[in-house]
Amino acid sequence: MSQEKENGNQTDQPVLYETKGPVAIISLNRPDRANAQNVPLLYELDAAFTRAVEDDEVKAIILRGEGKHFTAGHDLGGDHGSNVPRRSLWYSSEGREGSERGFAFEKEAYLGLCRRWRALPKPTIAAVQGACIAGGLMLAWSCDIIVASEDAYFCDPVVDFGVPGVEYFAHPFEMPARIAREFLLLGDKMSAARAYEVGMANRVVPRSELMDEAMAIATKMSKASRFALALTKEAFNFVEDLGGKRSAMDGVFGLHHLSHAHAHITGTSLSEMKDKPKYKNS
Ligand code: ZN
Repeated sequence: MSQEKENGNQTDQPVLYETKGPVAIISLNRPDRANAQNVPLLYELDAAFTRAVEDDEVKAIILRGEGKHFTAGHDLGGDHGSNVPRRSLWYSSEGREGSERGFAFEKEAYLGLCRRWRALPKPTIAAVQGACIAGGLMLAWSCDIIVASEDAYFCDPVVDFGVPGVEYFAHPFEMPARIAREFLLLGDKMSAARAYEVGMANRVVPRSELMDEAMAIATKMSKASRFALALTKEAFNFVEDLGGKRSAMDGVFGLHHLSHAHAHITGTSLSEMKDKPKYKNS
């Protein structure tokens, strides 16, 4: 077993990377902020996924969060306009004004990165505990398998702030459509047990067994051939997209940005979102 854990004691590293045999373990590491996703975290996460893909010894990838929560979503207090090392062909949001700024940023850093991670050629397992809110759903949903601890909960409370769901609109693909409507229109927390019941989570285990369960799944998958695993992922992504998943996200992304533009025009700041009761999780 080879293992390396980098910067494990440094809180200024938003993402940690280690390997255990054929499994890469990627950890969100902003526990004091419930692993809220700012720009550095998103691009460190992308770098970690890239590293796992490029390492031939790695066959499967676990995504997890340090601390009490998986991730409480996007860090709305972060600088969205900073000049990031873009991974799509979208131009920089730097220096843009009006809707162009937010659209260019979210097309790349939110929707674009999640799609990139969904398309990784190695299987990914999300190990989810505590809060998995809004942008947190995007990370979990980008993975192939979701293992939840009994204390995990899932929530997309953004309708309260005038937004029709997070940027990666997979809700009706991740759970039955009518349940998805309830999930988003009410914005209530969905328990791990309910997530399992509606088919969004693969397994629910006690908190103390979360990583063991994720490791067991990853290790078992790792016995298959690399190419077979990659082709299987391709098959599911292909079929899901034939069912409209990608097109739906493109269409709803426009509605999402209509809501952002509306908030901008009417002076309703989304930065107040994190102070709303549903968004608080600690
Ligand atoms: Zn947005």
